[in-house]
Amino acid sequence: MTIFYELYGNLYLNLTNRCMNACEFCIRDYDEGIDKNTDLWIEREPTLDEIITDLKRFDVKKYPEVVLCGYGEPLIKIDEAVGICKFIKENTDVKIRVNTNGLASWFHNKNVAKELSGLVDIVSISLNHKDKKGYNELCHPDCGEDAFDEILDFTREAKKYIPHIFMTVVDVISPEDIKECQKIAESLGAEFRVREKI
Ligand code: SF4
Repeated sequence: MTIFYELYGNLYLNLTNRCMNACEFCIRDYDEGIDKNTDLWIEREPTLDEIITDLKRFDVKKYPEVVLCGYGEPLIKIDEAVGICKFIKENTDVKIRVNTNGLASWFHNKNVAKELSGLVDIVSISLNHKDKKGYNELCHPDCGEDAFDEILDFTREAKKYIPHIFMTVVDVISPEDIKECQKIAESLGAEFRVREKI
């Protein structure tokens, strides 16, 4: 079971394989891991003690960022996410980034962005499309029509509590739609990035 793994010079954390979306471009549908030694499909979700134990295999201070990512939506595991972020912040000054679909506040029915205050330095939120219809067709969210507005609300809250906010799209939508997404991100005060489909 891979909990922490190195990627792009950073240290990544795989908390869960669960997600409240079923995006058509999701890497989980195409691949088993980053390489033959890194199987990101986990047979069960790790406890906070197991996460901390696994972290000790690495010299955390040497990485620019620790990234909570997945194969899955990391903020589904909000208690473990907060716990490991606190542990890292108490022991190092390494930056922490969360890559999220922005739907965790809906999932937990509470303000998840606020819980990350003082713990997370960067949040990268997947915007994915310019409107509800496009988002639902591409990402098939469990919360249906509400998903797009939930993501915008999560971004507004994240802006209050977290220093750096990115919104991203994957390059599977049209250039015109990407421009519209950029306008939305900038209107919310987020930086914008286009990600390549992996
Ligand atoms: S939000 Fe991320 S993990 Fe979830 S289905 Fe979409 S791409 Fe996959």
